Amino acid sequence: MAKDIGISRRGLLCVAATGAAAIALASRASAANAEACFNPDALPAAQKSLRRSLGFQLASPDPARKCGGCAFFTAKPEGCGSCALLSGGPVTAASVCNSWAKRG
Ligand code: SF4
Repeated sequence: MAKDIGISRRGLLCVAATGAAAIALASRASAANAEACFNPDALPAAQKSLRRSLGFQLASPDPARKCGGCAFFTAKPEGCGSCALLSGGPVTAASVCNSWAKRG
């Protein structure tokens, strides 16, 4: 028999809504950060193609694997940077791709 742990359905919905709001805010913050660094929609076709082939993600889902900790990243102000594998194309420190390599 399930044990009553004292959490109401309303409480669970509140926790779920708070989590969803936090995720939405984090996503918006990443988008805002990217906008401060570059406009992904305005990148040349070659950059967009290269990013697709490398599985580039504007916001890394893994805190341990971000452009900011990658050997190919060159930091610039405001959490921005460039990537040697992307021919020096702009990225953010919070982005990532499938070729991430830990900076030595
Ligand atoms: S190789 Fe990938 S993870 Fe590394 S800086 Fe470039 S885009 Fe970021």
